[in-house]
Amino acid sequence: MLIDGGTSSAISQSPYWWDARDRGQDQPLPSGAVDVAVIGSGYTGLCAALRLARAGVQVLVVEAGELGEGGSTRNGGMVSGTLKVSHPQLVKTYGKERADRIFFEAQNSVLFLEKLISENAIDCGYRRYGMYFAAYAPKHYDDLAREAEQLDALGVETRMVAKADQRRELNSDLYFGGRVTTFAGGLHPARYHAGLVRACREAGVRFVTRCRVEAMKKEAGQFTLTTAKGTVRAGRVVVATNAYTDGGLSWFKRRVIPIGSYIIATEELDPGRLRALIPGERMIQDTKRNLYYYRLSPDGRRMIFGGRTSFRPISVLESARRLRLSMAEVFPSLADVGVTHSWTGNVAFTFDSLPHLGSHEGVHYALGCCGQGVALMSHFGNCLAGDILGTGEESAFAFNPIKTVPGYTGNPWFIPVIGEYYRFLDWLDRPSRS
Ligand SMILES: Cc1cc2nc3c(=O)[nH]c(=O)nc-3n(C[C@H](O)[C@H](O)[C@H](O)COP(=O)(O)OP(=O)(O)OC[C@H]3O[C@@H](n4cnc5c(N)ncnc54)[C@H](O)[C@@H]3O)c2cc1C
Repeated sequence: MLIDGGTSSAISQSPYWWDARDRGQDQPLPSGAVDVAVIGSGYTGLCAALRLARAGVQVLVVEAGELGEGGSTRNGGMVSGTLKVSHPQLVKTYGKERADRIFFEAQNSVLFLEKLISENAIDCGYRRYGMYFAAYAPKHYDDLAREAEQLDALGVETRMVAKADQRRELNSDLYFGGRVTTFAGGLHPARYHAGLVRACREAGVRFVTRCRVEAMKKEAGQFTLTTAKGTVRAGRVVVATNAYTDGGLSWFKRRVIPIGSYIIATEELDPGRLRALIPGERMIQDTKRNLYYYRLSPDGRRMIFGGRTSFRPISVLESARRLRLSMAEVFPSLADVGVTHSWTGNVAFTFDSLPHLGSHEGVHYALGCCGQGVALMSHFGNCLAGDILGTGEESAFAFNPIKTVPGYTGNPWFIPVIGEYYRFLDWLDRPSRS
């Protein structure tokens, strides 16, 4: 356990959620061909596999690590249908009609997720807790208020909270008020993932883990995947690798920008003490460009606190030290509590800050969650399956193929520079410049 800012080897360097993870068993590759090979076993891959298998398609999920090795068992478990790009920006770029379709499809991914959880009886502690966006500067409060008017016009329920009333939502003096969105929730990410794995198994999906796809080629209408365990043939392929897209999938790798995000979990604390800090148990995100995001664990006994604490790779012991200080900045009363878990994971950004789904040379893909993929990437997986099944449903996101920029090979060398610039802008926005 990490106490008083010291470091200790006893701290777990795996996600707090992993106690509930279904890692899968090591299996050989099947001989012969499969109808569909899904690369990646996160929410996207599993939701695609589940729908396909239930429609009678033979599906093989191929995973480089253990099941759910990527973001899907590492995330904060905050469920919302928001995008990084605001509705007015979408209107400016794509026109009102398409902007509305994109916006509402993202919003409705929350309903998709809720239905999926309830129909499959997935025990993942999901609740519509709501989300509180905490304003890091007075100017940010004004921005939130302006957005609230726009959201109101779109029928999305929000409520501004002045600094004087903030303690009802968030017992911290760091912020200048904020905005509540009730159409948002929280879940236990690994239990949600394990529930999807179970549903997939019951539907007949096969899994092969520790089996990185190293190359892929298409001949005579069939794909051959070269993997760490040999080759496998498939009629169709789904790429669901998000921020972990690697060398064997170079066309896709050139289109995603992986960025590390870090989280800590505190030791078990008195639930009453924690509820006094976040009385409504809402999911919290602040408005800094280099944001903090935090919540109570689903059992209400720990603070789960995350942030982009470094834009260069650092050890999770160092990120624990930094995040613990950040947590104390938000909640001085937690300055002395211990940290039991510290971990990291990659989120995938894109060059237009939107998530994408589509197909390239016959390979179906959904990539680029931009940090918010629990609901949306689950929905995208389901959409990819619909596409393969030829259901004729069309996602509003599908018109816009994922793009890259000249010279980018998948190594985001520029992120530390942008990160430091954002840190400077955040500092400028603070009135006290502390
Ligand atoms: C620290 C952190 C916090 C986050 N918090 C939130 C949050 O609170 N709310 C929210 O909505 N979103 C959050 N996200 C984002 C969310 O986790 C992702 O959007 C979501 O998990 C993406 O799911 P996925 O299935 O597309 O990708 P992943 O779950 O990342 O799965 C991709 C898989 O592909 C595998 N893979 C990669 N290459 C290959 C290959 N060549 N061969 C075989 N397998 C391969 C990887 O091993 C990995 O398991 C967070 C992410 C992180 C990292």
